[in-house]
Amino acid sequence: MDIQNELVWSHSRGRALHGCRRAYWFNYYGSWGGWDASAPKEARQAYVQKKLTSRAMWTGTVVHGIAEQGLKRAMEEADRRLPISDWPVEAMRALARRGAEADIEGSRSGRWLNRPSRLTGFAEHYYEVPVTDAEWQAALDEIDRQVGNLVENRIYKRLRVAAARIREVEELRRFSVGDAEVYLAVDALVGDGTGGVVIIDWKTGENHDDAEIGAQLGVYGLYATQELGVPEDRIVAMHVNIRHGTETRHAVGPAEIEAARQAVASGMAEMRGALVDVANNVARKEDFPVLAEGSERCTGCNFRRVCGRE
Ligand code: SF4
Repeated sequence: MDIQNELVWSHSRGRALHGCRRAYWFNYYGSWGGWDASAPKEARQAYVQKKLTSRAMWTGTVVHGIAEQGLKRAMEEADRRLPISDWPVEAMRALARRGAEADIEGSRSGRWLNRPSRLTGFAEHYYEVPVTDAEWQAALDEIDRQVGNLVENRIYKRLRVAAARIREVEELRRFSVGDAEVYLAVDALVGDGTGGVVIIDWKTGENHDDAEIGAQLGVYGLYATQELGVPEDRIVAMHVNIRHGTETRHAVGPAEIEAARQAVASGMAEMRGALVDVANNVARKEDFPVLAEGSERCTGCNFRRVCGRE
């Protein structure tokens, strides 16, 4: 059975359209079907390259994975009416470390290329970017440090204690906004016990744009009101930076939710406008131009090989 390439809006896809248009095309169209190892060469290459990560992105993936496991374990215990068990930081660090070392090894050996959808592949290995052992060690140490920060984080601790009220953790959701379909996955969404919800977004990077995060949280607010029936004035949204141990509260109320609705509508109109056949979601490569030759952004782009810019 053929899987249909559907046009579904997400915050990251909306942003991608405002970056390099050709990269957007590789991501959402050129790589389509490339999960099959016998796919045409360009589709396979684009698919593999779309899956590449970097040390910085991967740190976030590993720490998010540990946060997810910690919360889901507490939710399961709460579900079974068991006391929430302590999960010592050293055990969490060891779990993260084992997975992280396996990721590096699988990527370094090229084994990940047998299952690029499931295993981790680093752009550093794929493009043979020189990275010293000390730099890999520093990445592992940063994961160690952030797992420690996570365990000590007051919001993470409170979430575990209130595990019975957590409604979702990293669940991929799809819902309709007007005539657009939307994907999202909230890091953690917890009931406040009186009909409202608290939405938590973990961040692990150096720098984040508060306005950008606010827009993303607005979409989560839209989801909470529309799909979960939460009143618009009963949402608290926070982004918690695990790297720096900071937390920022964002307003998510009627104005932000309406802005999110508008962002979905205008983003979807823009995506449709770039298609040659909207009904079948067909995009022609030539309608998505490359950046100017020598563009700095190409240097770190995952698609630079399939794009001919390596
Ligand atoms: S290599 Fe440059 S032009 Fe090509 S997809 Fe990447 S950013 Fe765009």
